[in-house]
Amino acid sequence: MNSEQLVENLKKVKKGIEDFDYTLIAVSKTKPLELVKAAYDAGQLDFGENKVQDLLPKYEALPKDIHWHFIGHLQRNKVKAIAPFVHLIHSVDSLRLLKEVNKQGEKNDRVVNCLLQIHIAKEESKFGLDFQECRDILINHLKELPFVNIKGLMGMATNTENSEIVREEFRSLKLFFDSCKKEFSLPNFEAEILSLGMSQDYKIALEEGSNMIRVGSLIFGARNYA
Ligand SMILES: *Cc1c(COP(=O)(O)O)cnc(C)c1O
Repeated sequence: MNSEQLVENLKKVKKGIEDFDYTLIAVSKTKPLELVKAAYDAGQLDFGENKVQDLLPKYEALPKDIHWHFIGHLQRNKVKAIAPFVHLIHSVDSLRLLKEVNKQGEKNDRVVNCLLQIHIAKEESKFGLDFQECRDILINHLKELPFVNIKGLMGMATNTENSEIVREEFRSLKLFFDSCKKEFSLPNFEAEILSLGMSQDYKIALEEGSNMIRVGSLIFGARNYA
């Protein structure tokens, strides 16, 4: 992958979705600094990483106006390291984690933007809250957590070729998102962002109401975990 290819890929991803209002997160996990810099030089400002130990060196080395999105399962003892600068944590999947983010936000005198990750996929392995747990946080806990701002919800669909299953899962989360938006009025629940869609399914996600897509391999090429 060179930077010309990368710029081509960015164009390809955006082609055909001009009519949607969305933010594109370029998921740079496992990819080298130089490629992230090439995407930045091409005008991409939002990047996603799923491991704190990979995010920190990139944050240190790259321009400070980059918006870093944390999209992976986050351990509570790692929140401290990203709380000073992270733009949005997409993957808040427990009340304990949210409380820790609030605590680190307070220490940094900074309100940390978060999404609540909702489990919509069939797979057991994917993290996330169910609708009831999400409602419980909004009803009973969020008002005591002034150093977090819940900007919306995030979900990941089942990894399947069957686009109807994927569409149905996205649709169910959009409905839940809209109902929360109506029901809950809290200063730190803004409900603006619905983060749905990856390389495989971002077009379906946009059709079903996503306004933030997280695209990795279509931009940076397949990942090699070997
Ligand atoms: C890796 C990852 C992505 C991007 O996946 P691609 O299939 O490469 O686009 C999006 N969201 C999350 C949470 C991820 O971990």
